[in-house]
Amino acid sequence: MIYQSINKGAEPVSLKKAVTENIAPDGGLYMPASLPRLPESFFSELPGKDLGEIAFEVALPFLSDEVPADVVRDITQRVFDFPLPLVQLYDNIYTLELFHGPTMAFKDVGARFMSRLMVYFNRGSDSVLKVVVATSGDTGSAVAAGFSGLPGVEVYVLFPKGRISPLQQKQITTWGGNIFAISVNGSFDDCQRLAKKAISDRDLKKTFSTASANSINLARLIPQSIYYFHAISLLNRPGALPHFSIPCGNLGNITAGMMARGMGLETGRFIAATNSNDVLAEYCRTARYKPRESVNTISNAMDVGDPSNFPRLLRLAGGDHKSLCDVLWSSSFSDSQTLDAVDRVRKQTGYLMDPHGAIAYLGLEKYLRESSSKEPGIFLETAHPAKFADSLQGVAGEIEMPRQLRDVILREESYISLENDWESLKDLLMCS
Ligand SMILES: *Cc1c(COP(=O)(O)O)cnc(C)c1O
Repeated sequence: MIYQSINKGAEPVSLKKAVTENIAPDGGLYMPASLPRLPESFFSELPGKDLGEIAFEVALPFLSDEVPADVVRDITQRVFDFPLPLVQLYDNIYTLELFHGPTMAFKDVGARFMSRLMVYFNRGSDSVLKVVVATSGDTGSAVAAGFSGLPGVEVYVLFPKGRISPLQQKQITTWGGNIFAISVNGSFDDCQRLAKKAISDRDLKKTFSTASANSINLARLIPQSIYYFHAISLLNRPGALPHFSIPCGNLGNITAGMMARGMGLETGRFIAATNSNDVLAEYCRTARYKPRESVNTISNAMDVGDPSNFPRLLRLAGGDHKSLCDVLWSSSFSDSQTLDAVDRVRKQTGYLMDPHGAIAYLGLEKYLRESSSKEPGIFLETAHPAKFADSLQGVAGEIEMPRQLRDVILREESYISLENDWESLKDLLMCS
């Protein structure tokens, strides 16, 4: 399979190049030149099919030109070694829980797959691969967990000093080994700017390979498309065309869902649920895409003012406003609506949503009401509520800390403090 810049102004490349370079010389993001269609037999055998088998069959066509099948099987088995259960909350409303991985957010899926693929591509090379990632919270820990202990790779996680939660900081700074946590005296945008400079710097490239691990990386999207097939397999309602509701930030998750659709998965509508950072909902309403500064909300992993995967999403849908809005419906919700939904659903069903999942729930509820659709809906639960115990106070009752989070709280932190300054980061990367 060949991979192409969505701007179509650059040479097609291999998956290895798409995954290590991230951005094509024409400035575009990489996508497969065309999506593989899965065979009819895959879909007829889907109900009840094993997650590991689904993962292998979906990933294989993307990788098979460059990665042997037994390695693809090994990677998919290791990535999906935790459950992704589908829980029914109401007659027609289900949630797909994506948060049972090591850092308790869905980003584990993409980060684990990407890390193993990069290590495979870097095998036999005598230079270390230095992976740089900027984080506003969840990405850094998932990427650190994904790469921890893997050979030939060092990971530098840049986080904004004092602007992530103490629990998130623990999840980034307690790995040791090949993971280096860097507290930057600046904002998330500063971290992102430094990370971008690091992966494109020529001096650094002379001595070792560098790569980015944020969500523009195609290797994070391929595995995320897998759980849409898995959801249909678990739903096991032949003939149903379920709607999927996704809590949106950088739009990686919903782009992966649209990739699954492009591979032949039959679904209802894709619901792009956002918090007050509503550039996508506004685009659907007005056909104008107006990026802006993000505002802070309690669903903070979705606080994105210029979602980096928007061009991919638009492309996948057909390239214009009308074709996008035929498959996708978007709506935005405030913090108080979010907390109200958490409270209401918990009282009615006993189920506790996290703020991100609650936004997706609200999107689905509103869509089912306005469209009068009788099809089932599945909303994605992207994080464990215990990660957001502070903002859920008053609506959640006592939240039990899961083992993964209890363990991390006991570990010792270690990180490097850095001024918001490129030369200091460059020195650090050169010398370590
Ligand atoms: C990153 C994140 C999101 C947003 O996902 P995108 O792929 O960036 O749209 C939603 N929920 C949680 C918990 C996240 O960490």
